[in-house]
Amino acid sequence: MKETVDEFRGSLVDEADDVESSSTAPVDLPRIERAVREILAAVGEDPDREGLRDTPGRVARMYAELFGGLHEDPRAHLQRFFTEQYDEVVLVRDISFNSMCEHHLMPFMGKAHIGYMPAGKVVGLSKLARVVEVVARRPQVQERMTETIADLLETEIDAKGVAVVIEATHTCMTVRGVRKPGSLCVTSAMKGLFRSHLSSRSEVMTLIYGNRR
Ligand SMILES: [Zn+2]
Repeated sequence: MKETVDEFRGSLVDEADDVESSSTAPVDLPRIERAVREILAAVGEDPDREGLRDTPGRVARMYAELFGGLHEDPRAHLQRFFTEQYDEVVLVRDISFNSMCEHHLMPFMGKAHIGYMPAGKVVGLSKLARVVEVVARRPQVQERMTETIADLLETEIDAKGVAVVIEATHTCMTVRGVRKPGSLCVTSAMKGLFRSHLSSRSEVMTLIYGNRR
């Protein structure tokens, strides 16, 4: 029987916000468990020793949670908006996220900053955090994650301009390979006005970085 995991759709963002229920994630837990047992055996461990006995099951449930975004459509969080004549930049800074690098299946974590110039449609601020979460909970590369979020905002709320900046630490870089602890990878995606107008781009970048620079 194929088990499905639903209890792990818990959210990192405020629950006070109205919750849109998402579809049940079809994650094949027993298959992950078998694979994890194989990995343990392959590295020379005994998957049946006491300390490891429950590990495959735990890892399976964890993966169901970390990759839960595969079974959700981030656009669902951008369907409700306010009609507002606001012609200035809307910015949400420091949206924390955790994701999984698809090259190593190791976590990368950091902060996303999202700015947009509305064209009559304004979305609830927590919705932006939800979009980041859904997109992050997939096997990812930071560059694509940045582009995906920017594209979603540009197309779903017809923003005049969208700026997404993501700063993250990749554990595949800090605990193995080049082992550079503290290194931060910064990616950005500029759409519309923020791409075509240097002054608008500098404005949003100043808002994002504030006095941290
Ligand atoms: Zn990696």
